[in-house]
Amino acid sequence: MSRSPKNISDTIKSLASRHGFEFCGLSNADFLEAEAPRLENWLSQNMQGNMSYMENHFDKRLDPRKLVDGCKTVVSLVYNYFPSPDFQPLQDSFKVSKYAFGADYHVVIKDKMKLLWDDLQAELGDFTGRMFVDSAPILEKAWAQKSGIGWIGKNANLIIPKRGSFYFLAEMLIDLTCEPDGPIKDFCGTCTRCIDACPTDAITPYVVDGSKCISYFTIELKENMPIELQKDFKDWIFGCDICQDVCPWNRFSKPHQEPLFETNSQFLGLNRQDWEGLSEDLFNELFRYSAINRTKLKGIKRNIAHIKKMEP
Ligand code: SF4
Ligand code: SF4
Repeated sequence: MSRSPKNISDTIKSLASRHGFEFCGLSNADFLEAEAPRLENWLSQNMQGNMSYMENHFDKRLDPRKLVDGCKTVVSLVYNYFPSPDFQPLQDSFKVSKYAFGADYHVVIKDKMKLLWDDLQAELGDFTGRMFVDSAPILEKAWAQKSGIGWIGKNANLIIPKRGSFYFLAEMLIDLTCEPDGPIKDFCGTCTRCIDACPTDAITPYVVDGSKCISYFTIELKENMPIELQKDFKDWIFGCDICQDVCPWNRFSKPHQEPLFETNSQFLGLNRQDWEGLSEDLFNELFRYSAINRTKLKGIKRNIAHIKKMEP
């Protein structure tokens, strides 16, 4: 008996939930018409900074059918990473973005998706496609928004009603026809907290200038800090959560239940001096399986040096 698109959608959502993905939304795989001029504008103003990979695959970014042959549906999935208040770094220390507290999400979420994929194959029969975790030219937030999981806030993050934005995003591009979900309303209203709080003035409503963002400088920038850069990083040495921390919707955040995202107590106990004196051996021991490893110790030291340079 062949399944209806609705039945396929329900099966995907039910299995996704069983694998720990708190929300799952489905969209027809077609051209992201509304996003095309926004992306063009963002690139034309060089908001990608040195992230030149953002300039590649313009067409594929906007149309998943150009990325995966025969793709009919984009399955958007989200996974909570909000850490428990019981596991927080020292107050008087440098700051690391919450998404990097545990094991590298690229690996953790990909492994979960593989298990989900196998279960879907067992349940729905043979289908083809690909899965991605921040690993392909996909406008993942736009797809999650289109599928109604949340809305893209003025801080350019996906915000899930009554849950917030501390979620990893992942996608499966599959050749099954499903019943799509529709977008929800934007609940930012008149709030401007993220814009007001951003220390580098990187946010204009709904657009983050990547080339001004602390996350970009501390993670994506591979060279030395620009000599003329006079921006206070507010102690952030890997990423920046300010525009999410101030968002009222994140008052609804609930701690994740994922053991692999639990934080190493030695990492939580590092004070400023410990960070400054961190050896290669200890860095590798603490961060071998963490997203922090992306910058290597050299990047962390560079970021600390910038913060110290800006101290009064
Ligand atoms: S991450 Fe930090 S620097 Fe970047 S836009 Fe948000 S508040 Fe501004
Ligand atoms: S801080 Fe306010 S304006 Fe910014 S994303 Fe959150 S709700 Fe929207």
